[in-house]
Amino acid sequence: MTKLERCKELLENWEQPDYRYRQILHAVFQQKISRFQDMSVLPAELRNRLIDTLGETVLTLRPAQESLSGQADKLLFALEDGEKIEAVRLHYRKGWESFCISSQCGCAFGCKFCATGGMGKRRDLTAWEIVEELLYFFLQGHPLQSVSFMGMGEPFANPNLFEALSLLTDPAIFGMSQRRITISTVGVLPGIQRLTREFPQINLAYSLHAPNAELRKRLMPVERRWPMEQILDALNAHIRRTHRRVFLAYTLLKNQNDTIAHARELGQLLRKNPKELPLYHVDLIPYNATEHAGELFEPPDQKRIREFYQALRKMGVSCAVRTQFGSDIDAACGQLYAKESS
Ligand code: SF4
Repeated sequence: MTKLERCKELLENWEQPDYRYRQILHAVFQQKISRFQDMSVLPAELRNRLIDTLGETVLTLRPAQESLSGQADKLLFALEDGEKIEAVRLHYRKGWESFCISSQCGCAFGCKFCATGGMGKRRDLTAWEIVEELLYFFLQGHPLQSVSFMGMGEPFANPNLFEALSLLTDPAIFGMSQRRITISTVGVLPGIQRLTREFPQINLAYSLHAPNAELRKRLMPVERRWPMEQILDALNAHIRRTHRRVFLAYTLLKNQNDTIAHARELGQLLRKNPKELPLYHVDLIPYNATEHAGELFEPPDQKRIREFYQALRKMGVSCAVRTQFGSDIDAACGQLYAKESS
């Protein structure tokens, strides 16, 4: 349980009036006050009681390791029970900041090219632990302009995700616009369908990584549970309902999925849905070698990347080659964790 959750319980046990908790939330999320001592709206006696029980600050997560680079700062957070998760702050030249956060500690999905997949699932994060990943940066004065669930874990496999989304968008907490949030999924069908119903404005990114089911099964075991055909149907339904763009992530792996034939197959797959095609956007991500999967996969050649991109464009598919943020600081998911625990 995070300190803010415990705080609520304590106030009830201590028979404090209901508005006390709202005052604390207001101090933290509206005034960016992290220390109980500085919450002058609370009586001194209550402040001291909170400090004695919970410590000086409202934060439960502790930064355990940090690596900084020109464009991406990566943090390894220690949770209350000693487990560790990662969050990344990306900053762009024009002052725009974006946060990439984790939804689970480890992951059970076992994608072959992913360091987090190699460590298995340790546990789901609670909704408030997810909030705290951002609260840490927020209390340092960073505006939460954009948040993506692209760190460790599969967001839709965590039953606490939707509560976390309610908190992120709650005006008394961060009050984030849905449009500033992106969920990246390997394709958990019930989660996608629920997002379409309950948070239609949240951005959706599907990690496709292969143009056909056979190849995808080899790279991503989830294909056996929720085949890409079913997921693309759900994404088409999402587009028809929301008129929002859907992102497809495609990691280019040398000689595995990066040939022109693969690009054409991918183009044909998307062109099967001519009405929805204009709202699909493919992000091509040159593979970033990880310590766990490094022997199995290699980054693609520059020429292949260019040809793949051009072949897709020629077929009328919107696409871009994504800058490989943080390859110098192990910013791909699970890599900082792998380094720390080795
Ligand atoms: S890519 Fe995502 S879903 Fe796949 S193993 Fe890694 S964290 Fe899990």
